[in-house]
This record gives sequence, structure tokens and C-alpha cells, in this order.
Amino acid sequence: MNKPILQIGDKGAKVMLLQNRLSEIGYNPGIVDGIYGNLTKNAVIQFQSDHALKPDGIVSLSGWKALMPYIEGFNRYTVGVADTIKDIAQNHYTTVSQIVTCNPGIEKEGFQPGMQLNVPYGFDVIPSNISYSPDLLESHIRGLSARYPFLGTGIIGQSVLGKPLYFLRLGSGKKKVLYNGAHHALEWITSVLLLKFCENFCRTYSRGEKMKGIDIHGLYNSCSIYVIPMVNPDGVDLVVNGLSAENPFYYDLLSWNHDNLPFEEIWKANIRGVDLNLNYPANWDKAKELESKFNACKPSPCRHAGPSPLSEPETFALADFTQRLKPELVIAYHTQGRVIYWNYGTSAPPRSKDIAEILSGVSGYGLEETLPEDSYAGYKDWFIQEFDKPGYTFEAGIGVNPLPISQLGTIYLDNEKAMLLAALLA
Ligand SMILES: [Zn+2]
Repeated sequence: MNKPILQIGDKGAKVMLLQNRLSEIGYNPGIVDGIYGNLTKNAVIQFQSDHALKPDGIVSLSGWKALMPYIEGFNRYTVGVADTIKDIAQNHYTTVSQIVTCNPGIEKEGFQPGMQLNVPYGFDVIPSNISYSPDLLESHIRGLSARYPFLGTGIIGQSVLGKPLYFLRLGSGKKKVLYNGAHHALEWITSVLLLKFCENFCRTYSRGEKMKGIDIHGLYNSCSIYVIPMVNPDGVDLVVNGLSAENPFYYDLLSWNHDNLPFEEIWKANIRGVDLNLNYPANWDKAKELESKFNACKPSPCRHAGPSPLSEPETFALADFTQRLKPELVIAYHTQGRVIYWNYGTSAPPRSKDIAEILSGVSGYGLEETLPEDSYAGYKDWFIQEFDKPGYTFEAGIGVNPLPISQLGTIYLDNEKAMLLAALLA
């Protein structure tokens, strides 16, 4: 009944998450490396003792449930008769003002016994040192929404395997921009980049502070920044958590992986082997023609354009959402190369290059005219063709994909101001 979820000898993204959260709350699980060794086991035993669980060093369902508030980054707390808000803040390693931000009811109704509060812990919701998977995204959107009730969230559609395609909305202004990440499974670091940006934006807004010298209250009121952190959750799950025997495409995926290389090193496509950034109706026929050159006429780790434009639920949902939203500017995040692509074929929308030059200046990323092999059927291409407004592909970071999570700090610093300015300038 109480089957082990994690135990000594286990490896992978879930172990990394366990190690990250145990160390955030003061235990010592050793290096966050995704390997459940003796130090991690000892930390789990300590955690179990402190939470009235059987101290056996094995994480079972009850242990995972006890960890859940720390994974989400907040605790649902009922105020007792003797509680003061200061005590609650101290017990959660947070501040009174952060509790008030999470619970606008305190200002309206006052602080009273019996009240249900969302109490944030004193660490970031979005971890910056672990592999990031779609199940985490779900927990963290709950966590960010609880901490920042002014954050807008929703779902634009579902993946092939039924995973929700989430969006977050920063701001309530009339002008809209849209940023997305992880069209390509291998490039899941872009999801973390976008989520970190959302978390930092919300924190700054709640404190009434500036971010990179920019007035966040002003930006919040004039603009709505829509963020779709993970366009391809099925692909990211495959890359981060490995191929599960329960995957309905299990045997297909093994045959589509023609070079038989590890999925985590090569898989860019969605779970049906379609390269989502070659599935948009913008010169899609050319992407289709190029399949044979890349040995991708059938579903493949990359470069297969699919049976028809927008054949995949992920691209269909994003194109449909974009059509309804009509943003003034979009950025599609990819890795790697530290460059910004800003045109499509011979089209360059008004102000597109001027804005690109500013974004290039603050990020340090080079400006590139789109190369022929990347000129077809991408999200940015389709957006420019459809709206004649600035649309960019940012190739973040440098090195061999998948970029190690250790690059996140640099990638974030390069891109934070560019994301703010793109919204201001749009
Ligand atoms: Zn990419």
C-alpha cells in the first residue's frame, strides 16, 4: 500500500527535486545530483522524524505528501486562537508582508482565528538547479498563484498525451505580448528561464520595486505579458524522465529514434515525432521538402514537419491562442547560440529590426537574419507572416544541447531586461 516512490540507489529528476527541496528547508541531502545516496537517505530520515513519519529513509506516498507543500512552496494554514501573524511568518521562514501579499483577505477582513491562509515559505518556488519536468510545472503554477494572487493563469489546450498547455499572465494592461518556451523537448531550460522571469516579476511587483531600473507597476498596468513556458510537455517529459513502458507510443518511439541514441540527448520533437517548430503554416511545404535531406520523412527526433500544418494539438493550440490574443510582439525561446532571429524570408515588420537591435544590446546576443534551413514553418515565421508585427526567435545560451542547468543563471541575466524591454517597446 505504502509503496516506495524513491529510495537509495534511485536516480533521476525526481531525486533532484527531493534533494533541492530538502536542502531549501535546512536538511543536508548532499550535492543536488539526482543520485539517492547515503546523505540523501539520512536527510530523508531526519525529515521523516520531524514530520511524524516512520524514519526508514524511503520516500513513500505519505512522505511525498508531506513534501508537497515544500514542492509547491506554500502551506495551507488554518489560523489558531493563539496565533499571531508574526509567529506564523517566523515558523515558515517568511515575512509578514509576504503573507499579506498571498492573502489579500487579511487587509479586507483583518487577521482572525479560523482563517485559511496560504503561507509562502522563504525560498523561491522555481528551482534553478534541477531538471524540469511537466509535473513540476503543474505544482509550481499552483505555488506561484498561491503566492501572487494577481498572477493570471490558464490553459490554452492539451498535448497529444493530454497534458495541459499552461499560460501565465503578468499584468493587466491593454498591450499584449507573448513569450513561449520548449517547442523543442531538449530545450526545457527555456521553461525554467520563463518561469523564473514570472516569479521575479511577481515578487518585484508585490514589493513595489523596480526591476533592472524599470517601473514594474507601470509595466503591469500598461501591458499584459503572456508566457507559455512549455509548448511541448510530452517531449520534455520523455527527455527529462525517460521513456516509460506505459507510454502509448513506447514501441513507436523506439523505432522513430533511428540512431538509437539516448532520448535525453537528441529528442526535440513532440511525442508523435513531429518537430513542432516546423509545423506552422508558413512555407510549410519547404520544411516538408527538406525532410528527406535530414532523414526525417517519418516521425523522427527532429526535422519531421508532420502530416500537415498545425497537425499537432500543441501547435494548433498555440496558433489558435495567438490568433485570439493578437499580441503586438512575440518571442519564441530556443537554445543555443546566443542569437536573435528577427526576420522571415524577405519580410521584416515595421520596427522589427530597431527593437531587435535594442534587445541585442541588452542581452549581448547577436542579430541574425534567418538561415535558409530555419526559414520555414517556425512559430516566429508564422507570426510575422500572419500579423506583420515583430516576432523573434531567441537562441539562448551556448554549447551542446541539452544545455546544462548550470547555464541558467547566465541565461537569465542575459535575458531578463530583454523580456521587460520587449514588452515596453512593443
Ligand atoms: Zn529549438
